[in-house]
Amino acid sequence: MLQQTQVKTVIPYFNNFTKKFKTLRSLSKSNEKEILKMWEGLGYYRRARNLLACSKELVNKYNSQLPNKLEELKKLPGIGDYTSNALLGLVHNKPTLALDGNVKRVFSRILNIEEKKINFDKLIYKNKENLFNTNRNADFVEALMEFGAMKCKPKDPNCLTCCLNNSCKYFKSNKKVKNLRKKMVKNKDYDIFCYINKKKQIALAKNNQISFLKNFNMPKIKESNDSIRIQDWKFLKSYKNSISNLRLNIKIYYKFSNKIPSSYSWYSLEKNKEFIPNFTKKIFRQVSTLF
Ligand code: SF4
Repeated sequence: MLQQTQVKTVIPYFNNFTKKFKTLRSLSKSNEKEILKMWEGLGYYRRARNLLACSKELVNKYNSQLPNKLEELKKLPGIGDYTSNALLGLVHNKPTLALDGNVKRVFSRILNIEEKKINFDKLIYKNKENLFNTNRNADFVEALMEFGAMKCKPKDPNCLTCCLNNSCKYFKSNKKVKNLRKKMVKNKDYDIFCYINKKKQIALAKNNQISFLKNFNMPKIKESNDSIRIQDWKFLKSYKNSISNLRLNIKIYYKFSNKIPSSYSWYSLEKNKEFIPNFTKKIFRQVSTLF
């Protein structure tokens, strides 16, 4: 839940989630509909789907035990390099590091070398005697992440009170390393066509062709294209929406109609039992201004 989401946003979700699913087995018996509803509002819904799939696999194939080998962990849904190392360290106390952005920055500063010029695998291997010289590997994994987030922060690191400033090359150097992270932002234009009715309902379906919105309930959505016939639709509003590195320029069109294509179903603009992603909820808010 904490990947890409702030702690204060996550806390109520986490509390609800752990209250409902007290064991791995109870989570594995759930279904996507239920999990997505509980995740509603957190975004990055692939995480929720992977968590559910992962719990099922752990219960069915691994007797509810988390594997303690990197290769086995990486076979689980949604578990990549970073997460598998974090799990090995935090759960199994294995000598490893979870290299997130914070940890990489700490090493980069201590050495005063740009992150992208550091071969982290080699660095860890060469220094394993020093890095893992206690049996508190789990604490070390956690401590390094916290150190990067709270002390050696992205901006204004607290060097004067840092216990490493005696040996830190960044602190001593007049030419301090900079790690610029440029996000490649893509702009896309979409037209969204909403069937609505007088009961404050909107027609949604899961059959759109937009890769990052596949499997989500959506009105009809198309990449903007001059050749699309829009004369039957009324223009409502244009607005911007960001999803990850995508900047979306959206135009909403609407039509009051009681007839909808067979793949669509009516949903209330106000409250739904079914999971509705944030992207669709923003459309709801725009369309609600018509009533
Ligand atoms: S001295 Fe400053 S730059 Fe070096 S590790 Fe400490 S906080 Fe980071």
